[in-house]
Parts: sequence; C-alpha cells; structure tokens
Amino acid sequence: KLENATLKAELGRATWRFLHTMAARFPDKPTKDERTTFETFMQLFGRLYPCGDCARHFRAILAEYPPQSGSRSAAAGWLCFAHNKVNDRLGKPEFDCNAIGDFYDCGCAEDDKDKKK
Ligand code: FAD
Repeated sequence: KLENATLKAELGRATWRFLHTMAARFPDKPTKDERTTFETFMQLFGRLYPCGDCARHFRAILAEYPPQSGSRSAAAGWLCFAHNKVNDRLGKPEFDCNAIGDFYDCGCAEDDKDKKK
C-alpha cells in the first residue's frame, strides 16, 4: 500500500535526523558512562523501532558492526556507515560520510552555554 510506504519513509526521515543530530552532539571526549549510554541506546533502539522489518535489519547491522563511541567523530561516522548500509539495501545513493561536517545542527549550542553560566 502506497500510503504505508509514505508513512514508513516519514518515520525514517524523522528518525535518521534525530539519530544523526544526537551523534553530532556526542562528546568529543566521552566518559565511560557516556560511551555505554550511546551503545546501549543503539541496542535498545534496535529493539523498539516500530517498523519491525527495519528494526530486524538494523539489529543485524548492530551485530556485524557494533556502535562506535570513542569520540564524536567515531559515533557520527559509525552511524553514517550504518545508515549507508540501510541506503544500500533500499537502493538509495551512498552518502559521503566525510562531508557530514555541520550537516546536522539542532541549534542547541546556545543551551549548553547557558547551562555553564
Ligand atoms: P533517508 O534515508 O530517510 O535520509 C534522510 C536524509 O539523511 C537524506 O535525505 C540525506 O540528506 C541524509 N542521509 C542519507 N544517508 C545518510 C547517511 N549515511 N548518513 C547521514 N545522513 C544521511 N525503510 C524501508 O523501507 N525498509 C527498511 O528496512 C528500513 N529500515 C530502516 C532502518 C532504520 C534504523 C531507520 C531509521 C529507517 C529505516 N527505513 C527503512 C526508512 C529508510 O531508511 C528511509 O528513512 C526512508 O525510506 C526515507 O528515505 P529518504 O530517501 O527520504 O532518506
């Protein structure tokens, strides 16, 4: 059904935007706790993502390529790689992960400055 495909795509776009933005804001030098949180989040995400087929495939990606969390660039690079695995499966073009730069900006940098005051 075309309608279902549209809804699935909408959810996918919103979710990827959230995930990539989260990775783009992950600490450059994460603590052990922050690393565990990121890795656990991804495993739980793979259990709870509401599109069952998508979640199953994502769990296979997680099993073969465990989430990387040693730094912001490691986390963002890993997620970009994982998204490209999904792109490949769906016949979508590969995204250039070297060009990810400031692509994902949430406008939240100011919030953190306020917090430090
Ligand atoms: P999307 O793939 O949603 O990407 C949105 C935007 O992100 C792109 O326009 C581009 O600007 C950018 N982008 C693209 N690739 C990357 C990358 N590698 N790194 C960073 N940014 C990038 N749909 C299915 O039909 N079957 C599935 O099995 C399936 N599995 C999924 C698994 C997960 C975990 C998620 C989150 C979604 C899944 N989806 C699946 C949805 C699918 O991935 C797309 O979100 C949906 O088809 C819409 O595609 P899109 O072309 O708009 O771009």
